[in-house]
Amino acid sequence: EGPAYAFIGLGHLGGHLAASLVRNGFDVTVFDRDPAAVERLVALGASAVDSPAEAAARAGNAISCLPSPKVSETVLAGPGGLLEGLPAGGAWIEMSTNGRDEIVRLAALASAKGIETLECPVTGGVHLAAAGKITALVGGDGALYERHRPAIEAMCAKSFLMGPIGSAAVIKVITNMLAFIHLVAAGEALMLAKQGGLDLAQTYHAIVASSGNSFVHETESQLVLNGSYDIGFTMDLALKDLGFALRMGKDFGVPLDLAARVNAIFEQGKEAYGGSAWSTQIVKLLEDAVGT
Ligand code: NAD
Repeated sequence: EGPAYAFIGLGHLGGHLAASLVRNGFDVTVFDRDPAAVERLVALGASAVDSPAEAAARAGNAISCLPSPKVSETVLAGPGGLLEGLPAGGAWIEMSTNGRDEIVRLAALASAKGIETLECPVTGGVHLAAAGKITALVGGDGALYERHRPAIEAMCAKSFLMGPIGSAAVIKVITNMLAFIHLVAAGEALMLAKQGGLDLAQTYHAIVASSGNSFVHETESQLVLNGSYDIGFTMDLALKDLGFALRMGKDFGVPLDLAARVNAIFEQGKEAYGGSAWSTQIVKLLEDAVGT
């Protein structure tokens, strides 16, 4: 039997990741402030406790998947947080998407209490996460990665050790920047096809087989065309990650014209449909503008 894990943050993404751990036979102790999310995991065989500290003390190692660096800091270092429960030598595996500065700072908080951090943001979306086929981008010590690799591989089909803490944040923010640019581009393409009188199902397949295809077109255009938009990833999360990308551009001296434009479009999307709307609803801005 492998090591036990606390899992904090059982939302659209974390719920699937924690479920994969349970399904693969790990001893998982969960906490989320949403009781319904906890119940879903308990039904699958996880144990539930009343705080991150209790979960960490019971398991000895902790994983988190939370909506913002601010929440990650509370769950890690706030009252009743992971650092109150983790034993010396325990590990914190942070699967939320953070900016580089944020994860470096949070890892330093953990390190001051004798806890090692592995950053492990993931990419591929909730549908791949549900299938255990999401990709992990890892930053941190190589030996620590090896120690927790069985758990990472129980949740993710592929993992890439990128370098020290902060390096996974950089690649993760880059991949999301690309994904949001691709989403807006795919939306513009679909709208041109629609207004040009094309059959949209046929358009979808023609683009998949073309030089203009992208992972985002393949996996998200269908959600736009069928009107569900349900990608399990919100406008607020998109704006969080685009903010990290734009700050990285400034920090590294790289002009990011496309990302800046896409960020402005997502700000419009949030204003129009709210921060908890699915990120794919960004295409509705164009549909509304064209009046279809
Ligand atoms: P989510 O909002 O669906 O889930 C967050 C969960 O954290 C919720 O269940 C919420 O109740 C819980 N939570 C909030 N504050 C808490 C607290 N103080 N204590 C305990 N639990 C608390 O978000 P998500 O979509 O699952 O995303 C989580 C992270 O993963 C984000 O950093 C996001 O950028 C990243 N991510 C998401 C996806 C995706 O497709 N959804 C893909 C890759 C990365």
